[in-house]
Amino acid sequence: MAIDTLNMHELARRVSSVSHALAEQQTRFLADLISIRSYTGEERPAVDRTLEELRRIGCEEVWMDSAGNALGRIGHGSRVILYDAHLDTNQVADASEWPSPPLQPTIDPARNAMHGLGASDCKGGVAAIVYGAAILKALELSGDFTLLVMGATLEEDAEGFALRSLVERDGVRPDAVLLAEATDLSLRRGQRGRCEVRVRTRGQAAHASQPQMGENAILKMLPVVSALEAMNASLPAHPLFGRGNQVVTMIEGPHTPNSVPSWCEVTVDRRMVPGETMQTVLEGIRRAVEPLDAAAAVPDQPVLTHTGLRLDGPSYYPGWLLEEDHPLIQAGQAACGALFGERPALGVWRFSTDGTYSAGAAGIPTLGFGPEEEQYVHTAQDQVNLEKLRKAAEFYALFPLLYQP
Ligand SMILES: [Zn+2]
Repeated sequence: MAIDTLNMHELARRVSSVSHALAEQQTRFLADLISIRSYTGEERPAVDRTLEELRRIGCEEVWMDSAGNALGRIGHGSRVILYDAHLDTNQVADASEWPSPPLQPTIDPARNAMHGLGASDCKGGVAAIVYGAAILKALELSGDFTLLVMGATLEEDAEGFALRSLVERDGVRPDAVLLAEATDLSLRRGQRGRCEVRVRTRGQAAHASQPQMGENAILKMLPVVSALEAMNASLPAHPLFGRGNQVVTMIEGPHTPNSVPSWCEVTVDRRMVPGETMQTVLEGIRRAVEPLDAAAAVPDQPVLTHTGLRLDGPSYYPGWLLEEDHPLIQAGQAACGALFGERPALGVWRFSTDGTYSAGAAGIPTLGFGPEEEQYVHTAQDQVNLEKLRKAAEFYALFPLLYQP
């Protein structure tokens, strides 16, 4: 049935009624995902479980792409909309900090929340997009769209790399991307970018008993570190994102305690505002460090998919910002209005997402909406509210019908 045969109120009522009917099944799916360990590059069992659920909810085509993402398709209309939520989680630092074991899904009845590793980043998002598709399918709603639902891989270590592979290697290019990362049911239209830069000084080795015979690369690094830190005051700024920043996060040298070090390398974590590129970042840093006889480069991020594919690439993740009046945002606002009776807040993320590829590199309009709350991401209190999880699925069911680019 097409959307114009129903008025919006009736449509929202039907979506809500089905989301309630499917809520228990959705919660079970999330619990299963949490109980499956899926560190970056080891997502296969979680991918298999997602493929099984995509089949169960009635996707017309279900497959794993070459980078090992789980994909399901509904419809075959001209507008291709991709829902992306990642299956990999960060690693648990100290399981003893957790109220219950990280891989044991636990419901807190007082807060109606499910706890467990990845609940807020991003398995709650996966359960939201898969059940958005389930509602759409159950109501047999259709339109001139193709909906792709993706349980993505590799996001924690190399955000955007698995999505790049889907687009550039497998040739699946969506017209719009929605990211189900933490937004607490509000809309996000951009993110800061990040880039890793390695800065190296060279000296000359000599025995530490005769330091005058050599040149100490660590001592040469001292003014370089100061210069990198001093750059913070004048990095590019943006009205929404504020000023970028950079932090010297690691320092390395030869592992010989009794030699004058012949090299020293620091790692810089740089956070960028939209508009900055790898070239502008490198040029700025080179201007500061080359007069001090240091060299700067962006290293390759090593990336190995669970399918055995190497996707190594520059450790560069551009920021992005969608125009405030873009049809994606209008559709998101209309969906929230129809379902929840209110206009959602519209903001930006401080952290990086797969949008760094879709919007930052490939120029595909991208919007964020998810049930998870940022305060629980990467913490021992990792959780997602089950009512928000159900509501996010409603949003994802209605969205394709309202998106009119
Ligand atoms: Zn995430």
